[in-house]
Amino acid sequence: PTFDTMGLREDLLRGIYAYGFEKPSAIQQRAIKQIIKGRDVIAQSQSGTGKTATFCVSVLQCLDIQVRETQALILAPTRELAGQIQKVLLALGDYMNVQCHTCIGGTNVGEDIRKLDYGQHVVAGTPGRVFDMIRRRSLRTRAIKMLVLDEADEMLNKGESEPVDWLTEKMREANFTVSSMHGDMPQKERESIMKEFRSGASRV
Ligand code: AMP
Repeated sequence: PTFDTMGLREDLLRGIYAYGFEKPSAIQQRAIKQIIKGRDVIAQSQSGTGKTATFCVSVLQCLDIQVRETQALILAPTRELAGQIQKVLLALGDYMNVQCHTCIGGTNVGEDIRKLDYGQHVVAGTPGRVFDMIRRRSLRTRAIKMLVLDEADEMLNKGESEPVDWLTEKMREANFTVSSMHGDMPQKERESIMKEFRSGASRV
């Protein structure tokens, strides 16, 4: 299996190889195909198996760069994780002219507003700040076609279920919903997350 045969755009493939990836990991082989087809996907695998790049590649593949609106929203449980996602997006999207912004707590709100006004194809962030930016109408959601919840189990454990519920409800119209989580999530958490998703999500 290679990245070449996955139907990815040329500029993204360049970014993938420039980043040093040679071939897709197991989760990448299973999930990317489904996500870019527009399926709702629940990707479960242990940390370190390449989940971050799974959804970053999928998000980048689905962007229309000509459209300067937020088309993908990625939520992460911690500021550090949101920052790491941003780095991977920028690296893989290095040849795509992609605008990505991180909306996280503890940073200057005015700067977020300025960056969002400029136009961001992808926003990665923590639920509280993202929620705030949507409420202020700085982050517009109408063009969002992809919502990613990274480590959704962690996010819900941290008591972020209210903003996450609100966002998933607001994004009902999103074409793609992806959740990415640890492989070792307890059944109870897993069930509560499953409720957030439309029926018919593929588990990979
Ligand atoms: P993650 O599970 O997303 O935390 O990724 C774990 C590590 O694997 C990171 O350092 C990634 O850069 C690396 N990685 C992800 N996908 C690939 C790949 N297809 N080939 C080589 N390394 C990868």
